[in-house]
Amino acid sequence: MPAVSTGYLAIDLGPTRLAAGVLDPTGEVVVRDRVATPARNVWPALTQLVRRVLAANPTDVEPSSCGVTCPGPIDRGTGAMKPVGMPNWHDFPLRREIADVTGLDVSIDTAGRGLALAELWCGEAAVLQRADFATLVLGDDVDGALVVGGRLAEGLTGNLGQFGHMIVEPDGAPCACGAAGCLTAYAGARGIEASTSRELRRTPVAIVERTGIMTARACASIAAMLDVADIVLGGIVPSVLGEPFFDALERELDQRSGLVHLADLRVRGVGAGPLVAAAAVARHAALDTAGDDAGNDVAAVDGPCDVTADDTADVTADDAPPAG
Ligand SMILES: [Zn+2]
Repeated sequence: MPAVSTGYLAIDLGPTRLAAGVLDPTGEVVVRDRVATPARNVWPALTQLVRRVLAANPTDVEPSSCGVTCPGPIDRGTGAMKPVGMPNWHDFPLRREIADVTGLDVSIDTAGRGLALAELWCGEAAVLQRADFATLVLGDDVDGALVVGGRLAEGLTGNLGQFGHMIVEPDGAPCACGAAGCLTAYAGARGIEASTSRELRRTPVAIVERTGIMTARACASIAAMLDVADIVLGGIVPSVLGEPFFDALERELDQRSGLVHLADLRVRGVGAGPLVAAAAVARHAALDTAGDDAGNDVAAVDGPCDVTADDTADVTADDAPPAG
């Protein structure tokens, strides 16, 4: 084994927290840190966080590229975010700024699309010749993705997967996008907390069940529209709400999905954590850039990733386990 292995710098940006870490080529987090997202001056806080993580990084894993997951949609031309309901984040040249700070190639994608790439790298899909599945990340807000024949589907603007704005309750709660009854208002942590005025882990049972029901409605629609029978959940909401959420989801799904060709529809959780998803964005870009031949080489040295464990735990760089 070489003394220095090539890894990834991973950054996850969300409205409530900023997280960064270094992952080794197998997707193992070797150092990580996080801070609450400040209401103002987000970019200086992010720069400090990234510098701290790089300084704490053990010398035997050197990031060769950087992957960022953030709320979408994303402007693919400029590498800037245009997240719904967060106008003060619009048009910040995220890709260029992080490249300036780190000196690395930076790739950006949304949380749901990052989870899909992580699933292709580390999850059940990694061993399949051609995988067809969707992801649904119930984080601060809701995001998703579609994989067809082992490839992440892009859509017209490279933002395919904004499933958070699927309407699950006509005339329901208002959404920042201007519509009403969007999934993100019922199954995103921010929407749930706004409706209960409590922290997520103190969500009343009735609202936990409602979250499961709304998520099941969305999953039934996704499966029917996109012809997928495998939906991978991610994000803090299923992790925190746990079994009662999944029980309600399963019950509702039985009612809502009667299509014969999708009789095997399953919704499984919880996929890779956000830093693995962000690293998967960097890895995907590196494979793309390297082209087919070199891409095979990258895959060969990359090795299988066996990390599906949640990396959302509140661990600082000091607490992080040693490499390997
Ligand atoms: Zn909406």
